[in-house]
Amino acid sequence: MNGAHSGDAHSRELARASERLERATPAERLAFAVETFGEDLLFTSSFGAQSGVLLHLWSQVARHLPVIFIDTGFLFPETLAYRDQLARQLGLTVRVLRPDVANDDFVARYGEDVQRRDPDLCCGLNKIAPLAPLRARARAWVSGLRRDQSRARQDVAILEPDGPLVRVHPLATLTTADVAQYLEAHAIPQHPLVSRRYLSIGCAPCTRALEDGEDERAGRWAWSNKTECGLHGREGRR
Ligand code: SF4
Repeated sequence: MNGAHSGDAHSRELARASERLERATPAERLAFAVETFGEDLLFTSSFGAQSGVLLHLWSQVARHLPVIFIDTGFLFPETLAYRDQLARQLGLTVRVLRPDVANDDFVARYGEDVQRRDPDLCCGLNKIAPLAPLRARARAWVSGLRRDQSRARQDVAILEPDGPLVRVHPLATLTTADVAQYLEAHAIPQHPLVSRRYLSIGCAPCTRALEDGEDERAGRWAWSNKTECGLHGREGRR
């Protein structure tokens, strides 16, 4: 996984390591990534309803590295408060990225209903673009994707190639119940909107509370077929 291999050899090595890590704990998977990639490991967190587990693991295994938070300008105030609370409690260093164009100017330029008309444009400019410089320098990227979150995520591997990057998903095998149990066992507070049935929390214009029987991410871009912001997009996960 040092980039000196041919593409095929690299993919095979990655697949073997991923298979081995199926039997490891989430903490062991994260430790493997920290050991393998060091400071070239990127960790972004939305500080959403499910983020506490990975943030806690990060505080145990990689506290010396920053947590990257993208403040699109459209987030719930509860998310910003939760970010500050968890960062304090877990001793994390949070680095905040913001889009080049301020929120008000963006809305004035593209219209109040830009998210309804063109959510990909909005995510592209407000979420993906601010991260681009860090992403270009990273060798690997940790995120909290889990297989049971939605159909689009049911095949996530622990390690996946994504162009020149390695995607690392230490929580891939955890269920919603595992997450709840972990948060309780480690006394990690809940995002304040969870009690109002928000189980996957993104920007305010694009997130609604869940109804009975819906999967965890059904409240995101609920008016459209969009299921992912594009940060974690592979084919089928967009
Ligand atoms: S989630 Fe919605 S508001 Fe946030 S960047 Fe994407 S389209 Fe814009």
